[in-house]
Amino acid sequence: MTGKERGPRTPIVVFYGNDSRVKKYHFWVLWEAAMSDSTLHSDKLGGQPQHDVIVVGSGPGGATVARQLARAGKKVLLLERGIDQRPRSYYGTYLGALIYADRMSLLFTQEGLNIVRPLMVGGATSMYCGCAAPPPEWLKEKYGVDIDAEVAETIPELGVAVLPEELRGSASTRIAQAGQALGYDWQPQLKFMKPARSKKFDCGAKCMLGCRCGAKWSAAEWVDEAVQAGAELRVNARVEKVLIGGRQAIGVQGTIAGQPFQAFAPRIVLAAGGIGTPRILQASGVDGAGDGMTMDITTMVYGFLPRGERGSGNEPPMTWSWENLEAGYMLSTLIDPWLLYPIINVLKGPKYALTWPKWNNTLGVMIKLKDSISGGVFADGRISKPMVGDDLERQRQAEGLCRKILVEAGVDPASMFMTPLRGTHPSGTVRIGTMLDEDLQTQVAGLYVCDASSFPEALARPTVLTIIGLGKRLAKHLVGQ
Ligand SMILES: Cc1cc2nc3c(=O)[nH]c(=O)nc-3n(C[C@H](O)[C@H](O)[C@H](O)COP(=O)(O)OP(=O)(O)OC[C@H]3O[C@@H](n4cnc5c(N)ncnc54)[C@H](O)[C@@H]3O)c2cc1C
Repeated sequence: MTGKERGPRTPIVVFYGNDSRVKKYHFWVLWEAAMSDSTLHSDKLGGQPQHDVIVVGSGPGGATVARQLARAGKKVLLLERGIDQRPRSYYGTYLGALIYADRMSLLFTQEGLNIVRPLMVGGATSMYCGCAAPPPEWLKEKYGVDIDAEVAETIPELGVAVLPEELRGSASTRIAQAGQALGYDWQPQLKFMKPARSKKFDCGAKCMLGCRCGAKWSAAEWVDEAVQAGAELRVNARVEKVLIGGRQAIGVQGTIAGQPFQAFAPRIVLAAGGIGTPRILQASGVDGAGDGMTMDITTMVYGFLPRGERGSGNEPPMTWSWENLEAGYMLSTLIDPWLLYPIINVLKGPKYALTWPKWNNTLGVMIKLKDSISGGVFADGRISKPMVGDDLERQRQAEGLCRKILVEAGVDPASMFMTPLRGTHPSGTVRIGTMLDEDLQTQVAGLYVCDASSFPEALARPTVLTIIGLGKRLAKHLVGQ
């Protein structure tokens, strides 16, 4: 449509705000959007949006919602900031991890906590350890969010299971047995992995760079299935804000490959992750987004076996775990990939990075702490995640236990150290019960959030199965509307 074909300019009244304060704007943006060639909106169809639902972000939250809705016959537009990295030759390599993680994997909070934030089709499941855990009981009991049926359906659908004994790794099993000998009930970890899918199951710590052997499920597969079911996927599509008319979400605005666009639908689902989603809400004028966050603050405790005894680095990550629900932490078998080991540990001090030659003899236990809500994701770009309350004390308790287990497993007690803090689960920034109702809707009608930012508390366990459960439940809700 050209400018000459356009009708007279009509100002559209838009209410844009929150419960306490409603700002009123007369502006042309909607009219311009409806007329512009750059919009994905079908002005040629009498101003009706082409899509029933716009989903922003293609991690497990967005991929699940998009797939379920497309399969139910809804017209879905899926907008993803990154691209599909799977066909690239560097996928699953160290170079790849630099290319597709935010700030080349060097994103830090103000306090120096390193955040790994993959930006690509499939979101963080493109670099995850493939661990699965049921949602915590408190999600249903305390917050009324029951996703048991959706999770129960997903487990056989994706073949979630523990790895066979021979693939759990002898050094990892050695750690678990040491834990068991001390009276802690270490269990094989559930996995989104089917070794039979790969020609050669080749999983070591490096599988956290991206799965090259194909055994591990990632949300990108459900993006494929959403597209097969009719969803429209746009990559390189960075959503900046939600367009809100009255108290109703009506569309989104951003850039595709650097070019401005707007797209319209009566339902918008934000699934841009624990950092992306609050930023979009902040830019949309929704108060409170990003105020406080959870992270499942993660550290590793390392110790070295005598020369000649193999460590856990070449084994699949996180094959055994133990949870301390009372103190709020989870332990699992894990060590950093070979090249990342010195990079992470130099942050603690040069002498720790210099232990790199001992990587092959290293045993590692990961601590995932149920951190208190603190800090936040701020509109000026800052991210803050201080340890508050008894976080530090509980982390020290967990570290003490890791040291005991590693000594039992045979490491040299003098060799042990704990790595710097990092966060792989940015979450809890748009919390259920604070900013979202039980159906994951914000205060703005038609605007939903379905990703890790919705967690009301730190999960302190693998997040993806819970996010899938939330996605399936939200899709049912939207289909029912
Ligand atoms: C190294 C690592 C290991 C992990 N291991 C496990 C594990 O074993 N098991 C487990 O359950 N969890 C694991 N996790 C955590 C898990 O992967 C994440 O918690 C989960 O993927 C979060 O899902 P999400 O849908 O909230 O967001 P993400 O997976 O972060 O997806 C968000 C998507 O939105 C896109 N996006 C962001 N901003 C915008 C925007 N403005 N416009 C459009 N798109 C946008 C991003 O590019 C991204 O693709 C791991 C994470 C990491 C980093």
